[in-house]
Amino acid sequence: MQNRRTQRGPIHRRAALAGLAASAAVAALPAWAEARRSLAGRTVLAGGPGGVFVGLQSHPQTLALEDGEVVLTLDDGPLAGPTERVLEALRLHEAHATFFLIGRNALHAPGIVRRMAHEGHSVGHHTMNHPWTLRQRSFETGVREIEDGIRAVQSAQGLAGPGIATPFFRFPGFADTPELNGWLSQHDMLVFGSDLWASDWTPMSPERQLSLLMQRLNRARKGIILLHDVIGQTAAMMPAFLAALHAGGYKVVSVKPGSARPALASAPQGWSSHTERMIRRRA
Ligand SMILES: [Zn+2]
Repeated sequence: MQNRRTQRGPIHRRAALAGLAASAAVAALPAWAEARRSLAGRTVLAGGPGGVFVGLQSHPQTLALEDGEVVLTLDDGPLAGPTERVLEALRLHEAHATFFLIGRNALHAPGIVRRMAHEGHSVGHHTMNHPWTLRQRSFETGVREIEDGIRAVQSAQGLAGPGIATPFFRFPGFADTPELNGWLSQHDMLVFGSDLWASDWTPMSPERQLSLLMQRLNRARKGIILLHDVIGQTAAMMPAFLAALHAGGYKVVSVKPGSARPALASAPQGWSSHTERMIRRRA
C-alpha cells in the first residue's frame, strides 16, 4: 500500500533467512522432486464488459476459489533487487502472480516489466505516481493518474497501441471513489481488492511476517493475497512462503485477461468493508 519504502534487510535478517531457505530444502532436489514442487494451479480468465470488483476486504464479493487456492498479488513495483528476488522465487515454483505496477517505477525498470510478462505473470496497473490517496484528488487527476500509469507500464513492456492489454487495476491504499469506479467500469476493468494480506507495510522480520501470513491463510484456506514486492522483508520471505504453500497443499491460481466475467463468490452475511474503516481511521 505504501510505495515510499526504503529497502530493508540488514545482514542479520539475511542470515536468518538463509536458515529458513535451508530448512525449506530449496536446493539440490532431484528432477522428479523439482517437478513436484510446482505450485501452478488453474488459470482464471477474467474480463468482459463492465467493471468487476473483487476482494472481500473492500467488496462484498471475490473470485470464486476452491479450498487451497490462492491468487498472489504484488504491489508497487518494479524495483531492481527485491522484485527480482520475488520473480526468482516464483519461477522456481512455477507460480504465476499478478503485479500491480506503479507507472513511474515501470519506466525506471522496463527490463523487469518485460521479464514479468515473459515469465507468465499478469502485469496490472496501480496509477502513475501512487497518490496517497485518489480520494484527495479531483476526478480528472484520478483519471490522468490511471491512464498515465497504464501507458507507462505498457510502454515499458514494449506494447504499442491504445488498448489496455491487461485491464487489471488496484487503487493505492484501496481508496476508491464512486466516480473513478464508474470510469473503471466503463473501461471494462477488473478492480482488485484483496481477501487477506501479510501487513507487510509494518516493519517486522521475514519470519514473523511468514508466521502471520500463514496463520491468516490457514484460517481462510484460500483467497487473493496482497503483498508488496518492493519491500525487502517480503522479498526475503518469498522462498519460505512459497515452500510453506507447497507444504500446506496450496495451489497458485493465475488470473489472466479474458473475455468473460469470472465466477464470483459472495461475502458471508454481515459483511462490511475492512479497508473503508482503515481509510476513515487514517483520514
Ligand atoms: Zn500501493
